[in-house]
Amino acid sequence: MSYYWEPKWVRRKFEYEGVTIETCMDLSTGLLVCPECVNVDVLCPSEDKPNNVIPSGAPTYFFSLLDLLRHMSAHRESTWKKRVEVEEEAEEEFISGESEEE
Ligand SMILES: [Zn+2]
Repeated sequence: MSYYWEPKWVRRKFEYEGVTIETCMDLSTGLLVCPECVNVDVLCPSEDKPNNVIPSGAPTYFFSLLDLLRHMSAHRESTWKKRVEVEEEAEEEFISGESEEE
């Protein structure tokens, strides 16, 4: 690796359609991280003192708030789908005893 990146992570709050998203933004590049994939308390504990840390692992970076929102709604969707699957299974068991007709 020949590149050199000195991130300056600060805590930032964004408002979007009434939802507040608190995450880390790098002042050097403007990149955002997903607060659900990255522990923001470790990466950017402060709003005004930049934290010079490259996140461990391979978190996804986002160039815009919209990209981050899209990613975060995918989180929502996957938990939502999981929950629905469980509910459907339970329902199927209950119904199958009574009738097979739709
Ligand atoms: Zn995420």
